[in-house]
Amino acid sequence: MSNSTKYIFVTGGVTSSLGKGIISASLAKLLQARGYSTTIQKLDPYINIDPGTLNPYEHGECFVTDDGAETDLDLGHYERFLNVPTSQANNVTTGRIYQSVIDKERRGEFLGKTVQVIPHITNEIKERIQILGKKGTYDIVITEIGGTVGDIESLPYVEAVRQMKWEFEDDCIVIHLTLVPYLAAAGELKTKPTQHSVKQLLELGVQPDILCCRTEYELDLNLRRKIAKFCNVNMNAVIEARDADTIYEVPLLMQAEELDKIVLEKLSLSAKTSPELTQWKEFLSRLKNPQSETTIGLIGKYVELKDSYKSISESLIHAGATNNVKVNVRWIHSDKITANNLEEEMNGLNGILVAPGFGSRGISGKIEAVKYARENKIPFLGICLGMQCAVIEFGRNVLGMTEAHTTEIIEDCKFPVIDMMQEQKNISNLGGTMRLGAYKCQLTPGSNISTAYNTDLISERHRHRYEFNDKYLEQYEENGMKATGKNPESGLVEVVEIPNHPWFVGAQFHPEYKSTVANPHPLFVAFVKAAMNNK
Ligand code: GLN
Repeated sequence: MSNSTKYIFVTGGVTSSLGKGIISASLAKLLQARGYSTTIQKLDPYINIDPGTLNPYEHGECFVTDDGAETDLDLGHYERFLNVPTSQANNVTTGRIYQSVIDKERRGEFLGKTVQVIPHITNEIKERIQILGKKGTYDIVITEIGGTVGDIESLPYVEAVRQMKWEFEDDCIVIHLTLVPYLAAAGELKTKPTQHSVKQLLELGVQPDILCCRTEYELDLNLRRKIAKFCNVNMNAVIEARDADTIYEVPLLMQAEELDKIVLEKLSLSAKTSPELTQWKEFLSRLKNPQSETTIGLIGKYVELKDSYKSISESLIHAGATNNVKVNVRWIHSDKITANNLEEEMNGLNGILVAPGFGSRGISGKIEAVKYARENKIPFLGICLGMQCAVIEFGRNVLGMTEAHTTEIIEDCKFPVIDMMQEQKNISNLGGTMRLGAYKCQLTPGSNISTAYNTDLISERHRHRYEFNDKYLEQYEENGMKATGKNPESGLVEVVEIPNHPWFVGAQFHPEYKSTVANPHPLFVAFVKAAMNNK
C-alpha cells in the first residue's frame, strides 16, 4: 500500500521521563526546517478521556488548544518548537478510543460481531493516527506513544504500530528511545537495558529502525557498534541523545547526530533544503548570553511539581531571551503565604506572577501576593485565577468590600465579584465542559495590554467557569481598576489593569499557551520588560 503521508512512531523503553516529547519535537523541527510540513501527535495509554480532570500533581499542566482540547503538556512543546497550532486530533487517550468504540457498538455499527481489543480497539487507534495524515496538510506525522514499552496499557498501541509498519511499508518507521545508564562503580555506560527493551519490542513484532539513546556521557563507536549489532539496526541509526543544558538545544544536538538525515533516508524522502535554523540559533544565543538578570515570583499551589506550570515557565524563558535577560523564577507556594510572612516571601522580587488554578487551597496566599504587588508597585501579571484574585483583592482592600470573593469558593458570599458564567450554571459533568479554547478579545487602545500586543483585537485560549461580575464594573472603573479587554460579543471582562501602577495586568485567558520560540508571547515580553525596569 502506498500513501503520500509518512508516519514516524516514537516509543520509549527502560524508563519513563526520557524526554520522548522533546525528541519528537526536535525531530519535527528539523524536518520542518527542511521544508516538510510536520505535525506531532501524542497517544496516551491512560483511561481518562483527557487530562482535563487530572490533578496537576498526577500529570503536570493541562495544555489547551485553539479548538478547546484539554491535552497533555507535550503538545505545548510541539507548539513551542514548531510554531504551528495543534488540535483535538493531536492527543488521543485510551479512554477516548474505548468511548468511541463503545459508542459505535451501541449504535450497532459492528453488525453483531464480538467487539475486541484486536481488531476493534487497534483499528480505532490506527484511524486516529491517520486522521492527521488524511487531512492532506502534512507530509509527515510523528506519533509519540506515551508510557513505556512493556506496560500492559501500551500493548494495543504497539500492536497498532506493528500493523501500520506492515501496511505502510517504507512510509512508516519506528524510533525507539532508550536509556544507556552510567554505572559509577563500574565506570561504564551499560547497553543491556537497551538490548532488553528492544527485545521486548521485538517480542511484540516491532523492529525499531532508529534507536535514540539517552546518556549522560559520550556514546563512543564501540558502544554504538555493540548496540547496533544486538538490536538489528545500522550503526548510523544509533543516535546519542546527551543531556542538554536547555531543551532548546536538543534540535541542534539531533542535527549534529544527523537524526533528520537518517529519518529522511529511511522514508525515501530527499532533503529539499538544508536546514538553516538561523532564527532558532539566534534565540539560543540570546538565551545563553543574557545581559542582566531579573527575578519573578511565580505564585501557585502546585509549585513542588514544576511541570504544573510548564507553559508559564517556558513563556518566561522565551520572554527573557527576547529581552536579553535571565529570568530567575522563584517558585512560591501560595499555601505558605500569610499576611505575616508576606514581606519576607516577596522580598527582592522584580515581578509577581499569580498562576491559574482551581479551588480554595492557597487562594488567600495568592490574594496576599496581589496586595503586595499592587501596594508596592511591583509589575504584576495575573493569569485566570490570578486575574480573579486581583479583582477580589481590589474589591476587598480598595473598594472596602471585605467579604468580596469568588462564588467558586464561597457560593453565597456577600460580594460575589467573580461569579459563575451564566452558560455554566446548568452543567453538572466536570470533564470538557469549561469555557475552553480560543475567543476574541477587544483591547482598550493605550492600555498596557494593547501596547504589549501592538494591536487591539486579539485571540487567546481559555479554560474557566467563572468571570468578572459585571454588576461591579462601574464601581471598579471609577476607583482605579479598568477593564481593558472584553469579549466583543458577550462583553465578558477578559483583562483588568490598574493604570495608576507601573504595570498591573490580569488576564482571564491563558497567554502562556501561545508563546513559541519563533513568537515569544508579547504579554510575557512586556511583563518581563516591566520587571527588568523595576530594579
Ligand atoms: N477556577 C477559575 C475558573 O474556573 C480559574 C480557572 C483557571 O485559572 N484556569 O474560572
